[in-house]
Amino acid sequence: MQDYYLAKSLKQLRDEINDAHPGRDKASDGWIGDPSHSARVSDHNPDYADGGVVRALDIDISDIDVSALMAVLKADNRTNYYIFERSIYGASKFARRAYKGVNPHTQHLHVSIKHTKAAEAGRAWGYGGKIKPNASKPKPVHSSQPTDYKNLATDGIFGKKSVEALQIVMRATGDYPGIVDGKAGPLTWKAVQSWLKGHGLYKRAIDGKPGRYTIDALQQFLRKKGLYPASKWRVDGDFGPATVEAFQRYLNTQNGQ
Ligand SMILES: [Zn+2]
Repeated sequence: MQDYYLAKSLKQLRDEINDAHPGRDKASDGWIGDPSHSARVSDHNPDYADGGVVRALDIDISDIDVSALMAVLKADNRTNYYIFERSIYGASKFARRAYKGVNPHTQHLHVSIKHTKAAEAGRAWGYGGKIKPNASKPKPVHSSQPTDYKNLATDGIFGKKSVEALQIVMRATGDYPGIVDGKAGPLTWKAVQSWLKGHGLYKRAIDGKPGRYTIDALQQFLRKKGLYPASKWRVDGDFGPATVEAFQRYLNTQNGQ
């Protein structure tokens, strides 16, 4: 088999993203087609008629600024199309259209460049200049935040105090960029998901919705910590009182960082 290589322009794009987010999650990154791709036409397959160039790149979206990435792609005439969150942006000014392919692209953004030599050119995309200052993982904030979440009542009720405690702990781990307001909104649940993902327990999209898979991963985490014993409770993805109580116990162990 001939050699193949990722187009210079896409290498450049990946470098810019890596530089902007050191240590970012690359689990869903990729560029070379797996066997399922080679059975069909895909920009992930090397174009051997043109020296083996690969004209597509997948970027894990966990830690990047997706809107900044879409903005640079949209503004650059090397881009052919990109796919993200069941949507494809391409022909006619990158207007959004529904994407009906098998992979919904909720873990990564796919970008394809045009099939021209010009589109392979490795000049800068300018991603770093477009990202918002807080797009990469936030620094832990310890000052001017409530710290009285120690001795949180382990009552199995996920109330304001519990959510505050959770948010403080998630700030300390660098997963929660928001304010401590005791409201369990999407940002708070995104933090929990990325934190569980960091522990290898959550493998789904970071969507801020505390569904069954999120709670399942949380229960597994608590079980590992010995707070959610198999003899008493099941890992069932249900955020019931037993799970909340175990979670409260865990939050109580995370004080004074
Ligand atoms: Zn792809």
